[in-house]
Amino acid sequence: MSSKALDQFLNENLNDLKERGLYNEIDPVESPNGPVIKIGGKELVNLSSNNYLGLATNERLKEAAVEAVKEWGVGAGAVRTINGTLALHTRLEEKIAKFKSTEAAIAFQSGFNCNMGAISAVMNKHDAILSDELNHASIIDGCRLSKAKIIRFNHSDMEDLRQKAKEAKESGQYNKIMVITDGVFSMDGDVAKLPEIVEIAEEFDLITYVDDAHGSGVLGKGAGTVKHFGLSDRVDMQMGTLSKAIGVVGGYVAGKQNLVDWLKVAARPFLFSTSLTPADVTACTEALNILMESTELHDRLWENGNYLKKGLKELGFDIGDSETPITPCIIGEEKTTQKFSKRLYEEGVYAKSIVFPTVPRGTGRVRNMPTAAHTKEMLDRAIAIYEKVGKEMGII
Ligand code: PMP
Repeated sequence: MSSKALDQFLNENLNDLKERGLYNEIDPVESPNGPVIKIGGKELVNLSSNNYLGLATNERLKEAAVEAVKEWGVGAGAVRTINGTLALHTRLEEKIAKFKSTEAAIAFQSGFNCNMGAISAVMNKHDAILSDELNHASIIDGCRLSKAKIIRFNHSDMEDLRQKAKEAKESGQYNKIMVITDGVFSMDGDVAKLPEIVEIAEEFDLITYVDDAHGSGVLGKGAGTVKHFGLSDRVDMQMGTLSKAIGVVGGYVAGKQNLVDWLKVAARPFLFSTSLTPADVTACTEALNILMESTELHDRLWENGNYLKKGLKELGFDIGDSETPITPCIIGEEKTTQKFSKRLYEEGVYAKSIVFPTVPRGTGRVRNMPTAAHTKEMLDRAIAIYEKVGKEMGII
C-alpha cells in the first residue's frame, strides 16, 4: 500500500504545475550531444548544450575513457577518503591546479555537489555570505546548507555589495564573511566584475569564491574568468565544473594547499559519496591536456559565438549585452517566447526558452549556446530558421 499523503502531495503538485504550463516535459536525445542532435527522429541544430568546446564527443577524450575502462574498470569502488582515490584522481587534480595556476585542487562528482560540499565546509552559522542575487541554484543550496547568514546583493551592483560588506563587517556579528559569485552568468552571458569584487573583498577581509562553471574553457584563453582578469592569486576559491567546456562530468575547487587539505577532511560529498569513475577522470585529464596544448577550440568557440550574434543582430533580434559566446535572444512575453522556441524546433533548431521565474517577468528569451563544434553551415541554417520564424511571428 502506498502512502495516501504522498499520493495527494504528488498529484496536487503535478497537476498544479501542469495547469500553470510549468511542467517541464523532457525530450530524450537520440544521438550524441553534438552540434546537431536528434530528438523525436528529427535532426536539429543544437544550440542548447553547455558543451562549449565540443569535447563531449571528442575522439581523444573517447579513446582515453575507453582505455581507462579497459585498464581500471568502470567504478572507483569507494569514497575518496577510504580507497576510492585512484592515482587517476590525483593526476587530474594536479592538472586542474596547473590549469588554474593554484597550489592545489580537489575534484568532486559534480559541480552541484562541489558547491554544496565546499561552501558548507568553509562557512558555518557564525559566518555571513554575500551572494549575487543571480547566483546558480547550487550556490544558493550550498549557502543554505552552511547555515551562515545569507545576504543577497543586487546583481553585479558593486555599490550594493560594498555597502552590505561594510555593514556586515562593522556589525562585528560574524567570524568570517564570504563573497560568492558566478564568474559568467549563464542566462545573459555577462561576466562578474571580479576586479571590483576582489578590491572590496580585500578592504573588508572577505573570502572570495568564484563559481566559474561557464567561464572555464571560455574566458582567459580557456583558463577562466579569474585568469582573464589576472586575479589568480587574489581569489581564495575557484570553483568550476568538468561538465561544461571540459565535456565530461564533475566539479572542482582550486586554491591554496591548506584550503584543499581542509576540503578533503570536511567537504561531505568527498567523504561520503563514491568518487568519479576512471573513465570520467581520465577523459577530464585529456580535456585539460587539449586546452593546455592550444587555444584552437577556444578561438573557434569565440568565432562561432561572434558569427551567430552578428547574424541574429543583423536580422533585428534583441540579443542583450552578452560578453561571452552565450547568445540570448530576448522575446519578452512568456507564452510568445515558448511558442517561438517551439516553432524553431519544428523548423530544425533546438534552442530552449527560458522564462519567469528563471529570468524576470517580461524578459523571456531563447538562449543560444554556440560551440566550437558548430560549422558555419550549421550556424547559417540556424540563422535562416530564426529569420523565417521571427518574420512569421512578427518579432522582426
Ligand atoms: N554552477 C553553475 C553556475 C552552473 O551553471 C552549474 C550547471 N548548471 C553548476 C554549478 C552545476 O554543475 P554540474 O552540472 O557540473 O553539476
